[in-house]
Amino acid sequence: MMKKTEIIALPGDGIGPEVTGVAVEVLKIVCRQHNVELSVKEFPFGGTCYEQYGSPVTDEILDECKKAKVVLLGAVGGPKWDDLNADKRPEAALLKLRKELGVYANLRPIKVYPVLAGSSTLKKEVIEGTDILIIRELTGGIYFGKPRFTSEEGGDPFSVDTMKYSRSEVQRVAKVAFEAARLRSGKLCSVDKANVLESSRMWRKSVDELTDDYSDVKLSNMLVDNCAMQIIRDPKQFDVMVTGNMFGDILSDAASMLTGSLGMLPSASIGGKNGLYEPVHGSAPDIAGQGVANPLAAVASAALLCRYSLKMEEAAQTIEEAIKSLLQDGLRTGDLYAEEPGTRLVHTKEVSDYLINQIQAKEESAV
Ligand code: NAD
Repeated sequence: MMKKTEIIALPGDGIGPEVTGVAVEVLKIVCRQHNVELSVKEFPFGGTCYEQYGSPVTDEILDECKKAKVVLLGAVGGPKWDDLNADKRPEAALLKLRKELGVYANLRPIKVYPVLAGSSTLKKEVIEGTDILIIRELTGGIYFGKPRFTSEEGGDPFSVDTMKYSRSEVQRVAKVAFEAARLRSGKLCSVDKANVLESSRMWRKSVDELTDDYSDVKLSNMLVDNCAMQIIRDPKQFDVMVTGNMFGDILSDAASMLTGSLGMLPSASIGGKNGLYEPVHGSAPDIAGQGVANPLAAVASAALLCRYSLKMEEAAQTIEEAIKSLLQDGLRTGDLYAEEPGTRLVHTKEVSDYLINQIQAKEESAV
């Protein structure tokens, strides 16, 4: 008998609907192959939701997301909504959704596909073979700490932000990282600034305390300044990395440039039983509606959804193998295309058709 699962899709704005459309189709097929009947409820989100309801997200939509626990998001934003008040802007919906779902661990895989190694600004021999999973704490640290204010002292204005981490906050995200390391090479690097910051000393101590529970994982600690340098110098030394909110924000953007294209980067934000999956890129208004967007970041996000929320590792790998095979066969959307022998410029629809055929062919060969 087929198991039934429901997820929410929030395609959003710009190229959001174009890329999530492909991801949903792929998801439905791999789920069916693994005896899961996937139903996908779709709601407007961001600018499109504002147009319909006068708000970038409604309480009803947030409730549906919390009920379903698993959300696949496209992207939000666009020039049309840039002048709205902060609480009406599409981005406000995104922050509210992350907070309401309590997704405290943001996972960003940084994988350099061998055939795209030439697309990065860094030397091919440095980045080839890179496969890092950065796990960033998402709901604590300096972006949320109180007090937070601006004041004045003797005519000199000043501002205060607070970097605060509790043991439980650190350990819940560290556990996600240890678990992820177990599924990969068993190596985890925790990044902090423990030589200077109290909150980092708490971070390091809290992570270290978990080592008895994860004796099969080899834990190392690294200072964030050294880490920023090592990511560029020798990215292959890293496998799973865990760090606080601000350090993770900066390191993951720096590391994303190893891959060469924004259109390739997926992300997963998880916490408790909830999961929010979205490509790292935005709504790309400059190419929206033309059918030329690269859907691979959204499709790779769907693979993460299978891995972390549906616990269907084989399905995740099927999707990831189809992406690899598409790139090996030379199909490139505009963001990746450079005139090279064996490559071909394609539209979103061709990418979608290729992935679906590839995944279905795998099923047939298994029968
Ligand atoms: P962007 O990521 O939308 O686009 C940057 C460049 O990359 C553009 O030239 C775009 O065409 C290209 N690009 C991005 N994704 C692509 C894809 N899948 N295929 C092919 N090309 C792709 O960033 P931006 O232009 O700075 O922002 C546009 C809008 O998106 C803004 O309103 C911004 O606020 C919003 N935004 C949303 C998110 C999100 O929803 N998570 C993230 C970043 C930006």
